[in-house]
Amino acid sequence: MILQALLLVVALMIVGALLIFGIPPLRRALLSKAVFKTYKSILPQMSETERDALEAGTVWWEGELFQGDPDWNKLLAYPVPKLTAEEQSFMDNEVEQACSLVDDWQVTSELHDMSPEAWAYIKEKGFLGMIIPKAYGGLGFSAYAHSQVVTKLSTRCSALSVSVMVPNSLGPAELLMHYGTDEQKKYYLPRLAKGLEIPAFALTSPWAGSDAASIPDSGIVCKGQWQGKESLGMRVTWDKRYATLAPICTVMGLAFRLYDPDGLLGSKKDIGITCALVPRETPGADFGRRHFPLNAMFMNGPSHGQDVFMPLDYIIGGPKMAGQGWRMLMECLATGRSISLPSSNSGMAQMTARAVGGYARVRSQFKMAVGRFEGVEEPLTRIGAYTYMMDAVRKMTAGAVDLGEKPSVASAIAKYHVTERARQVVNDGMDVIGGKGICLGPSNFLGRAYQQIPVGITVEGANILTRSLILFGQGAIRCHPYVLKEMQAAHNPDAEQGLIDFDKALFGHIAYTIRHCLRAIMKGLTGSHFVKVPDSVAPETRRYYQQLTRFSTAFAFLADISMLVMGGELKRRERLSARLGDILSMMYLCSATLKRYESEDRQKEDAPLMHWAIWDTMYKAQMAFDGFLANFPNKFIGRLLNRIIFPLGHPYDVPSDKIGHQVAKLLISPSAARDRLTAETYVPMVETEAVGAIELALNATIEAEPIDAKIRSAEKAGMFRDMPGANVRDVAQLAFSMGVITTEEFALLKRRNHLRDIVIRVDDFPHDYGFYQRQPVAHKAAA
Ligand SMILES: Cc1cc2nc3c(=O)[nH]c(=O)nc-3n(C[C@H](O)[C@H](O)[C@H](O)COP(=O)(O)OP(=O)(O)OC[C@H]3O[C@@H](n4cnc5c(N)ncnc54)[C@H](O)[C@@H]3O)c2cc1C
Repeated sequence: MILQALLLVVALMIVGALLIFGIPPLRRALLSKAVFKTYKSILPQMSETERDALEAGTVWWEGELFQGDPDWNKLLAYPVPKLTAEEQSFMDNEVEQACSLVDDWQVTSELHDMSPEAWAYIKEKGFLGMIIPKAYGGLGFSAYAHSQVVTKLSTRCSALSVSVMVPNSLGPAELLMHYGTDEQKKYYLPRLAKGLEIPAFALTSPWAGSDAASIPDSGIVCKGQWQGKESLGMRVTWDKRYATLAPICTVMGLAFRLYDPDGLLGSKKDIGITCALVPRETPGADFGRRHFPLNAMFMNGPSHGQDVFMPLDYIIGGPKMAGQGWRMLMECLATGRSISLPSSNSGMAQMTARAVGGYARVRSQFKMAVGRFEGVEEPLTRIGAYTYMMDAVRKMTAGAVDLGEKPSVASAIAKYHVTERARQVVNDGMDVIGGKGICLGPSNFLGRAYQQIPVGITVEGANILTRSLILFGQGAIRCHPYVLKEMQAAHNPDAEQGLIDFDKALFGHIAYTIRHCLRAIMKGLTGSHFVKVPDSVAPETRRYYQQLTRFSTAFAFLADISMLVMGGELKRRERLSARLGDILSMMYLCSATLKRYESEDRQKEDAPLMHWAIWDTMYKAQMAFDGFLANFPNKFIGRLLNRIIFPLGHPYDVPSDKIGHQVAKLLISPSAARDRLTAETYVPMVETEAVGAIELALNATIEAEPIDAKIRSAEKAGMFRDMPGANVRDVAQLAFSMGVITTEEFALLKRRNHLRDIVIRVDDFPHDYGFYQRQPVAHKAAA
């Protein structure tokens, strides 16, 4: 009897729940209405500029990773970016030539600028107009070609790469192409394409850096004298800093807030952020002084103007685009961010991998190449595997732009993680080469990169902010299938329609969260062994796809629970938000690495690079889960989530030393894999160039190693005991005179020693260097 009653109650509850959940008007009235009210009260207030920033751009592969069940077929089907014959020829000829025209030491220490010849060459050959369509006289290159060019230039000289990168990134050309009037396009684009105009873009002011939407620079709509006539225009006052190319620009894109107190344009008094193009000769516009950004020597400086009158036609897109500046900037941000910093920092990493790897084989201590010591192998491994991954991310993200995407979150991931890894790679490189990296001079190939690494970390969205606010914050809103819909419903002025939309999104959201919870438990309990993966993937990578799907499901679940528990508070808990961003990012990095491995036909020799990079990154993702769960505000829920996500412990350890050894080995020997890893590095094969000398010395070192072995055997047998000259430098001479090695072998050793001497030497200068004398003293190479 009791059992029957209980069954009846349970049945009634199920029917009741079905009625509530299954009949939308009923569930809206009984449930959603109350939830909607609470939701609206806790939803953080969002300004228009914040909304523009969050809603700009598109969602691409990162959306799949965010939503818990990535469709790997989609990733594998994305076309592999390729250069056209024209773009390839540009890389092989013009880019090579541009690199040969600059000498980084001369640029950074003597000229404090590129030489006039280098400037003339990059202008004439269209480097400054790579993104401008051919119809306007530009090169009309793909995003991938643009990335390839910047990557290679960055392996040579930062002033060269930044001077090319900036006009092709977010700035006047990009804004004109999207929003310019026909007259503005016809006038400026051909001139920008040919370097007749040098652009800069000034948004940042002393009072508004990361919080760029709060710029105090302002314009007042008014009448004034323009070219001898009274005209309607704007009186603009600005105080900007850090604008790249500003000291030499001929036209500056200027962002300011426009006001119309007298209603000359309409009823709106605060029109909003506006972007104008200000020619250098505009009376009152002041730009010409420069900053000194960490010895990088690209042009960068402040700009000022006080009540500068300019016509409304200066507004990009004309008066109708007044107030649209912020939206324009946010819409275009993702494209440049996908290319500039990921490319320049991949370039630095490629150069480090090539030159430091070579150096580590040429330089020997304790009678062994330093690159063979386990301790040195550790940083070499990071250099190799990170460079492989960074370049994979760079190429995949540039490829997305060529597919028509403006991937706001993926571009932020690429920017943040490629620049952070470049910092690690260059730091590791400095450790490996010891004092050689510390003493600056023409033969130091890494010191300037080391100095300049913070530039990439700071620009285009400073990294701490990007990690803390953008990666997960924007990701959650843009990539989640329901969050944006819920927010839009809350902001709907039609409250009734808002409730209908909210109810639909809410119940979709609930089902989505429950699904992910169940899937996370299943995948955790089964070690994700039953996750379906496309048959076409390389068998050695199969488990990575399965584990990534598992991590993606767990992440989706965690993201939802966090938003549910913390709501708007999550935005302020930046450490937690950053860790969620880390997990999403690590999955993106791994996807790009797997994509690269497949795209390059699963090169067997590259497999250690891929394996180490994936293990390291998955391990880091796991640590991000741990860090997040350990700091979850509600300890009980944190522990419960840990049980759900990792019911049988952690799937990843640190990457194996055995694979690490293979990676390090790959860096210190010439091979097709090393060439692929550093494919865009500019390597002038002459002794007088630091990177070229390493390459020549590496080849000579490898040729000489069997001869060294012969000498060592003779040494062990006691042949040179107590002989004068039996030291590390002169032992070859002794071995030759005692008939241990042949004339040809001795000649080879002499050449190796000569090259090694060039490579390991550092520059020195007169004691008063910096005041009177700037010429380094050339060294006599040892025989
Ligand atoms: C060499 C160079 C070139 C540049 N080129 C240009 C250019 O061409 N045009 C242009 O307009 N600007 C340019 N900039 C400006 C650049 O975009 C800014 O430097 C950047 O936006 C950061 O601003 P800030 O330096 O004032 O740092 P701040 O805004 O003062 O930030 C300081 C630190 O606080 C962190 N931070 C700030 N807010 C938050 C938050 N909410 N949560 C977590 N962390 C936060 C930042 O990440 C940073 O680490 C350039 C800067 C440099 C150095």
